[in-house]
Amino acid sequence: MGLFNFEKLKEGLRRTRESFLGKIQNVISLKPVIDAEFLVYLEETLVSSDVGIATTERLINNLKTRSREERYDNAEDIRSVLKEEMEKLFAGDGLGDGSLQFDQKPHVVMIVGVNGVGKTTTVGKLAYIHRRAGQKVLIAAADTFRAASNEQLEIWAGRAGVRIVQHARQSPKGAGGQAHGADPAAVAFDALKSALSHGDDVLLIDTAGRLHTKVNLMEELKKIKRVLQKQIPEAPHEVLLVLDATTGQNAIMQARQFTDALGLTGLILTKLDGTAKGGIVFSISDELKIPVRYIGVGEGIDDLQPFDRKAFVEALFGE
Ligand code: GDP
Ligand code: GDP
Ligand code: MG
Repeated sequence: MGLFNFEKLKEGLRRTRESFLGKIQNVISLKPVIDAEFLVYLEETLVSSDVGIATTERLINNLKTRSREERYDNAEDIRSVLKEEMEKLFAGDGLGDGSLQFDQKPHVVMIVGVNGVGKTTTVGKLAYIHRRAGQKVLIAAADTFRAASNEQLEIWAGRAGVRIVQHARQSPKGAGGQAHGADPAAVAFDALKSALSHGDDVLLIDTAGRLHTKVNLMEELKKIKRVLQKQIPEAPHEVLLVLDATTGQNAIMQARQFTDALGLTGLILTKLDGTAKGGIVFSISDELKIPVRYIGVGEGIDDLQPFDRKAFVEALFGE
């Protein structure tokens, strides 16, 4: 039944849950009735859990409206209305599992994001998810900036049991200078050609998070898109931005830049296992109106969970 694993999700969110839930329980036991005072406590709690001011305000207003219509005066009801309203903050439902079906072959997915957020790791984990679903997967090594990146991706391709396309670097490491990597767009082009001729179901493209000083990252990523479209006008079918959840509100700024330049179809939040500030997931989804597709809850190959808003909130409130 796919790779969704509630226990893993719950464990991955442990730090956030312990901090968030503890505070929420406090608020509820302090004032088990939704009134003006309760809402002030709740507001402080959500903001301090990195939910973000705009998103918190939206939630508080919705609760205000609901509590005007109906009286919530016991802990049980308050918890359930709170969970409902928190779920509503999410744009879209994410892929869920069992819905890895695509109209076109190969389904082309670009993975983008700044350095160190977990792109390469996520490509490996995603490859594994698709392969486990019985799909033929190809990975393109289009982060040609760092030499180590190819090796890292090769290891992930091996773990996931999928093919990889990469180019040799154009010039050997020379005296005094950084060797120029292969052209990322050319790697993507060749990978798509290879995927088409092999009848692959999915092409996952790993990209760079920074480039040589003179080359603009967004321009390079746009170029990859254009080059893919030469072979499949609809490609890339998805552009997924990887964000490191531990970077808090900074992740929202990154998301804005990538959205403006590339038009994102979804988000992947990584390293939720490493933070107590998982509340950021609410504000990112709410403020950007881009669906969260997956969340990373560890460094292992099966530590990428399809995002499901109900399960996410359930895991946060779970004892
Ligand atoms: P890239 O520069 O965006 O390609 O990032 P990498 O894939 O190289 O990952 C950077 C670091 O983040 C590595 O040490 C990964 O193991 C780690 N990482 C990625 N995703 C997760 C996650 O969900 N949880 C944890 N704890 N670490 C992660
Ligand atoms: P532009 O930058 O948008 O004008 O795109 P180009 O047409 O110059 O292509 C950008 C890069 O994609 C090129 O440098 C090539 O490396 C690669 N590319 C484009 N078309 C082809 C092709 O037909 N074959 C191969 N192998 N690579 C291609
Ligand atoms: Mg990388």
